[in-house]
Amino acid sequence: MNVEIAGWDQTCDLPNPENHGETRMDAVKRAWEGAMEMAADSWDRWEITKPKLEAIEKSGANPDYVDQLDVDIDDPGYTQFFALRWDKDFRAGIEKVLHNMNTLINSMPSQNGRPKTELYISCNDGGVAQYKCDNDIAFEVDLPNDAGSFINFCPPFWKQARFDVWKKAAASEKHSNNGGPADVSENDWETVRNLERYGFGTDASSIFHELTHASWIGNTNPLVDGKPTPADNTGFYINSQMSKKCLSNSANCKDLVKNAESFTWYAQYGYFRRRVTPRAEIWPLWGPQQKPIVLPV
Ligand SMILES: [Zn+2]
Repeated sequence: MNVEIAGWDQTCDLPNPENHGETRMDAVKRAWEGAMEMAADSWDRWEITKPKLEAIEKSGANPDYVDQLDVDIDDPGYTQFFALRWDKDFRAGIEKVLHNMNTLINSMPSQNGRPKTELYISCNDGGVAQYKCDNDIAFEVDLPNDAGSFINFCPPFWKQARFDVWKKAAASEKHSNNGGPADVSENDWETVRNLERYGFGTDASSIFHELTHASWIGNTNPLVDGKPTPADNTGFYINSQMSKKCLSNSANCKDLVKNAESFTWYAQYGYFRRRVTPRAEIWPLWGPQQKPIVLPV
């Protein structure tokens, strides 16, 4: 793990309730590595996508459809969660969050004395006096003056699907498609597909989500009158519907840049799509959970 976490409260030394062979701190560290891997992968995709979006913008009012398909092929998450939007302000908003996710967290090890930005972790309900988990998987609270963040991992966090397990299944699938042994069971593969089909998050995607909330990273879903705006929705399908709303009315597009889940699903869907590309689309093209944005060919 690259990031230096300034403090773990003592509840992180308790056993992981779902796996007594490790502490909660072990489980968080493992998931954190997955979140950082998705952050690096997202940035890598963005660097491929960004010049294509700039070219589309330059091409004027009737951009070449082939250019849009090109973005969709290499970075399908950009189509689904950011509505394949190419205007400059939107691009800048997306880039800022993805850049901060990839670099800020990885560049904050302790220096001589205390780092300016710090992360504090709690692994039990009620880690911050005035906040409660309710049904949250985790929550993030900014420290004053952009000094860092407090992240509380709540009871449902430990039950989440493990990113490292799914990653292994996806890697095996790709391997078998390249002529290697099919060493992934159909069950494992179904689990990876269900990630997209039913919108299950992983332990790593929860960490990714919370980090985008931090004001010094993405300031997603900031509180207005005590309520997050846009609503802090969870779920793959709901968040792709937000993208559709942006396509039908550009006034809605600003919500995508302020929505933790849009970034989180962009990261995770893109990550797995890249690794299972030889297999057909993992998001259903029909039915109630169908892929919402399908570019005509
Ligand atoms: Zn949230």
